[in-house]
Amino acid sequence: MPVYSHILLAVDFSAHTNAIAERALSISKVCSARISLVHVVEFVQMDLSNELVIPQELELDQELLTLADKRLKELGEKYGIPDSECFVSQGSTRREILRVAQQHGVDLIVVGSHGREGIQLLLGSTANAVLHGAPCDVLAVRVRD
Ligand code: AMP
Repeated sequence: MPVYSHILLAVDFSAHTNAIAERALSISKVCSARISLVHVVEFVQMDLSNELVIPQELELDQELLTLADKRLKELGEKYGIPDSECFVSQGSTRREILRVAQQHGVDLIVVGSHGREGIQLLLGSTANAVLHGAPCDVLAVRVRD
């Protein structure tokens, strides 16, 4: 029985994306696992005043979502991952990665990690945040700037 059957690769479109994707793809090949991509568009602006969000912000959000969808599908195409496995979400990065993982019965989440130290570690990286709430295994691929 394969170790993992469905891998979710969290993509932030940074310069490290290809290195992280290649690691995830190697594992998916070894396990013959399904592989999906997720990218989260954070909210453009938090509404701290509880006032209504103005239409321009909504339009900008929509444009960002459309752009992210295009970029994610391009990345998917590069790695032979179908459009139906490319998920773009809006909201909190940690929460959305975990939600998508849960929704699709993912058993391994792959993220990049800078292995930060000191104050940045206290603040928490995405890798840390995902690890703490994950319903499954998490692989933090070490990347260096
Ligand atoms: P960071 O903590 O921002 O350095 O990000 C570490 C890793 O979290 C990245 O390599 C991605 O795997 C993942 N990640 C960060 N931001 C996003 C995002 N907006 N959408 C999906 N994954 C993300």
